[in-house]
Amino acid sequence: MAYKLGLIGEKLGHSYSKDLHNKIMNESGILGTYDLIEIPKVSFPDDFPKLLLSDYNGLNITIPYKENVIPFLDGISESAKKIGAVNTISLKDGKAYGYNTDYDGFLEIFIRNSISIKGKTAAVLGYGGAAKAIALALIDEGISSIDIIMRNIAKAKAVNNSSYDFISFNEFNRNSKYYDFIINCTPVGMFPYVIESPIPKASIRASYVFDLIYNPEETLLLSFCKELGIKYFNGMEMLSAQARKSQEIWFK
Ligand code: NAP
Repeated sequence: MAYKLGLIGEKLGHSYSKDLHNKIMNESGILGTYDLIEIPKVSFPDDFPKLLLSDYNGLNITIPYKENVIPFLDGISESAKKIGAVNTISLKDGKAYGYNTDYDGFLEIFIRNSISIKGKTAAVLGYGGAAKAIALALIDEGISSIDIIMRNIAKAKAVNNSSYDFISFNEFNRNSKYYDFIINCTPVGMFPYVIESPIPKASIRASYVFDLIYNPEETLLLSFCKELGIKYFNGMEMLSAQARKSQEIWFK
């Protein structure tokens, strides 16, 4: 059987997912195609349900639809429910089930590099789909505190989650606090906006910086880390780990 797979997002010019999934399928001897499916925000409510009824076997979901897809699904995994975001959908026997592989993909970086999370502190920049998965993974692994940095502090106040402190980017930059981990979960710095950084160089006080962006490989944020001698990881390692987890779901 040849599987029909695809990625849904608003703009996918930056995506490596097609090459990555084709490479993993080739290595595993699985026959399949992987399409990049751009859907504009205005037509999402009409176009997405049609895709669920089409002949796709599996889908990945990216910006900005990881939360929007949930009401259309027949069921979602426990971790996707807790996170409130879905990045992988399995379509079988007319039913659509959602999962979140960002959680495991992020933790794999720590496992592979022998970095311990227990008792550490983190600042998570942004609070979208990826940030929610990462914050939950860090909590589950015993992190001692997480500050979530948001641009829209009114939105932060509406989030009822006592596990985290929500602070604005201005406050974060003013505080100049030290963290074990700073994790960029915003798209700031992603191609083509490569001359932007979510935080200035002066605000980077951390042992490790993780940028979820993988295009470019070295964002402005990571080039600041290089100058400061701070250890850093780009999003490539997490991308391939979460892609492998998606294929485990689709192909069992
Ligand atoms: P998302 O759900 O759209 O969330 C994006 C977050 O970034 C939101 O909190 C948003 O704030 C914030 N944000 C957007 N523009 C901002 C700006 N100019 N200044 C400050 N905050 C801003 O996206 P996502 O799925 O979480 O993905 C986020 C990033 O991670 C993307 O670059 C994506 O490519 C990357 N990612 C990588 C991997 C990987 O495997 N490497 C996996 C998942 C995601 P508002 O709520 O105020 O809009």
